[in-house]
Amino acid sequence: MQKPNKRLEGQTCIITGSSDGIGEAVAKAMAMEGANIVVNYHSSKEEAEEVAHWINKNSSCGDAIVIKCDVSKENDVKDMFKKTVSEFGTVDVCVANAGLQLDHSLHEMPLSDWQRVIDVNLTGQFLCAKEAIIEFKRRGMRPEISKSLGKLIHMSSVHEVIPWAGHANYAASKGGLVMLMQTICQEYGPDKVRCNSIAPGAIKTDINKDVWSTQEGRDGMLKLIPYNQIGVPDDIGSVASWLASDESEYINGTTIFVDGGMTCYPGFTANG
Ligand code: NAD
Repeated sequence: MQKPNKRLEGQTCIITGSSDGIGEAVAKAMAMEGANIVVNYHSSKEEAEEVAHWINKNSSCGDAIVIKCDVSKENDVKDMFKKTVSEFGTVDVCVANAGLQLDHSLHEMPLSDWQRVIDVNLTGQFLCAKEAIIEFKRRGMRPEISKSLGKLIHMSSVHEVIPWAGHANYAASKGGLVMLMQTICQEYGPDKVRCNSIAPGAIKTDINKDVWSTQEGRDGMLKLIPYNQIGVPDDIGSVASWLASDESEYINGTTIFVDGGMTCYPGFTANG
């Protein structure tokens, strides 16, 4: 966990899917920067409350609240933004992090599992970005708080560029995020909205526990990572809090890969 700083003081951050994993680390990192935090959860109320409790105990200036919301449901997302504005006055940063995998070979993939992954991983990010931009524009610039009107961070994946057999729904959702993020950048950059993605590589969370919890799985993962180290959620938290701050003001419309070099295709190291 990074040292307390104040780069997000006076700002409010919604982090979707932040009751655990990467979202939890992002929420805590942004809280340590002084922000108010909305811990969004889908089904794990108790875990979300634990994250909020940790923040309220450890953050010197920001507060945390917990809001239930299924990011794939428009009314839920609208409601989450409404509650946030009513509690904290506005939203400055939206980290669209919620995501899931439902893996099958393509020829065995039920339409419902294709649809669910697209609904959460892509449509959910569209719905959050839409409500965030509406709120950024309603509130207007506050130069004393941030140089940008608002910041959007999409949690993507190395699979926005690396095809992934057995995971067509997931890879397609993350590939779609590239165009969503870049189009938002083009459309709302003139309003001073900053929109970027973070693309994690292999980070130890529940989403890939079945792989990293066995020696064989860990060895297989490490073969894909030139830095020879599996990532942890704090590796993403520290990048996200910096990316939300004015220190990264001129970064707009790009994906930051946090992957130990996975996108350098290590399979070619001794075979080119
Ligand atoms: P995780 O399973 O620990 O967390 C995912 C979170 O999303 C959970 O809190 C879950 O409850 C929430 N969620 C799922 N459906 C939701 C919905 N409909 N509405 C609201 N919340 C919902 O996994 P994670 O690794 O922390 O994943 C976070 C993000 O990072 C995802 O978008 C994932 O695709 C991305 N990612 C993770 C890795 C990795 O190696 N862990 C790599 C690349 C990308």
